[in-house]
Formats: sequence, C-alpha cells, structure tokens
Amino acid sequence: MTANCDERHAFILPRGNADEAALVSEACIFPADSLLQVCAHFSSRQQETRLVRHVEEPLRQPPPYRDFNDVKGQAQAKRALEVAAAGSHSVLLVGPPGTGKSMLAARFPGILPPMSDREALESAAVQSLTSGFSSARWKVRPYRSPHHTASGVALVGGGSPPRPGEISLAHRGVLFLDELPEFDRRVLEALREPLESGHITISRAARQADFPARFQLIAAMNPCPCGYLGHTTKQCRCTPDNILRYQNKISGPLLDRIDMQIQVAAVPHDQLLRQADGESSATIAARVAQVHAVQLARQGKENNGLSTSEIDLYCKPDGAGEKLLSGAMAHLHWSARAYHRVLKVARTIADLAAADTISAVHVAEAIQYRRALQNP
Ligand SMILES: [Zn+2]
Repeated sequence: MTANCDERHAFILPRGNADEAALVSEACIFPADSLLQVCAHFSSRQQETRLVRHVEEPLRQPPPYRDFNDVKGQAQAKRALEVAAAGSHSVLLVGPPGTGKSMLAARFPGILPPMSDREALESAAVQSLTSGFSSARWKVRPYRSPHHTASGVALVGGGSPPRPGEISLAHRGVLFLDELPEFDRRVLEALREPLESGHITISRAARQADFPARFQLIAAMNPCPCGYLGHTTKQCRCTPDNILRYQNKISGPLLDRIDMQIQVAAVPHDQLLRQADGESSATIAARVAQVHAVQLARQGKENNGLSTSEIDLYCKPDGAGEKLLSGAMAHLHWSARAYHRVLKVARTIADLAAADTISAVHVAEAIQYRRALQNP
C-alpha cells in the first residue's frame, strides 16, 4: 500500500481502534472514518482519496507504581519480594495489622522484569475483552487487588457469555489478595488450577471459554484473628482453636502452591522515626531484570515455570544443600510439591548470587520462606 509497508500486515480499521492496533509493531494500520472512505481508497486512482497510514506512536507513561524506598525498615520482606520478582514466585505475606503488607504489595509490580512484546500483547488482549485497555497501559504489568467479598465469577471469570475474571485481568501481572482467609473458601480453591497451569477454563451450560491466567499471586494475612500472634510487644488474645480455624481457611493444597510464605514483622518505633533509607525500586528492578535474563538464556522460562524433569536438570543442589533440604522435608512434613517449589526458589536465590550451583546457604534461605505460619 505504501513503500515501507508490508501488505501482508496491512489493516483498514475504524479510527477508534487504530491506537490499540498500532501496538502490534509489524502491523500497518489505515484508519477509516466511514465505509465510503474505504471504497474511495480502493476505487479511486487519486492520491488524495487514499487512506493515510496511522503513524502515531502510542503514548508511553512511566509505570504508576509507588517506590520501595518510601517503605521504612522491612529489609527481610523486601529481600523476599526481590527473590519472588526475580523467579516469578507466588508469595504469602503474614504479619500483624499495620506492618505495611499492602504497601509492599502495591510496590511489587514496579520491580518486576520488563514485559516482552508477546506478554504485553497477551495482557492487552485480555484487558480489551472488558474494554479496560488503554494504550497508556502498554507494557505496564497489570496489578489487580479485588476485595475479599469478590464473587467467584468476579475473581475467576464466568457469566454468559463467559468473561474473564480478576485472575485473567492480572495475566502477566500481579494479583493481590489482602486478608486471604476472609475470601470465600470455594473461591480460593478455584485458584489452585490456574496457579499450576496458567490458564482457566470456564464451563457454562452451553459454552466453554479458556482464558489465560498466568498471574503472580501476592497474598496477605494476619497470623491469627486478633493479628498479634508472635508480636514482640502486643499480646495475642486468641485461643489455639480460634487460631487453627483461622489458619485452616487456607487449605493445605492451596498453601502448597504458594512458593514463599514470609513474615512481615512490626517495625520498631525508632526505625519508624528515622528517614527511609532503603533502595529504590529502579535499583532492585535492575537486579531482577538481569536474573530474569539469565533464566531465559539458560532454560527459556522463569524458574517458577520449571517442570519436575527440568527441576532435576537445573535445580540440583550440592551435597550439603541436598542434606539440609531432605532434613527439612522430613521435619516439616512437606509434600513433594512443596519440596519442588523450595528447590525452584533456591535456584532463584542462587541466580541472584550469580552462583551456578545451589549450595546450602541458598537452600537455607528458601526453607526459611516456607515457615511463616506459626502453630498456636
Ligand atoms: Zn491473636
């Protein structure tokens, strides 16, 4: 159609869709205001009646995420979130109210690795289904934080015709579930399948739909109903029975699928009065991006996506690491699934240390990320 345009990838589209379609880098877009214009374009030989190629660059804005350097203290939680971002691991943050769990979660998308064109297109396609996409959000990882009263349909998808839910709108981004035990248990159980497979199939009487749902889960909860179990200065008022009932709202199989369970402790008063002195999100994101690239070069995917046979290939610890891990597995009564997930997290920790071999120190840190829920 024009000299620098590949005709196999040329599209005539309504003007309102031109910006969105232009995000596909190899496509040539010709916006039209009416069918008359389209007819004139094909039938007339005059240059002035032909459609003009859309060349506008999509609007790029910096990601609208707050910076990690305004979270005071919480060095351990920040370190754990860096590991999670680097290997695409899911996280449960456990800690008393007011310790900044939601603050940390809201900053998490800002340290994730940059989106590839393919990931950005997949994400934009799902957002488009609910007319929630704007080109200003191009290559910005989605962050969804549905309230715990959200219905199953809202969270997982459904309806007639089937529409994507929060887990699909969070595809290639972050799904933050605050106050995890307050969600309907059946709704939480429905997360198990997509957490493993990265997609969700919705079946309604006559129709079936498959939506992508490769989201990174960040969940948060109090350690007990009153919130102060294990707190240094405040007293927990819950009975052991109450605590168990509360923690058991998260089923064992769901907990198994959450790679990292992190304690977020109350920040001591003197630290709160000090200036925030942590690293910026940009500094952390640079390390995450580097480790992300290492994983893609080695195995073509993130550590979290490794299959059992790939774990054998890429996540073999040295002798001391192996011994530590089998000891922990016996002592903490882990399932095989939990064991494999710890190995993948240990792989990411070794990658952050630029170590080819997973050693005991990497395994020890990964084990520590599975012990946040205390017994009453
Ligand atoms: Zn309590």
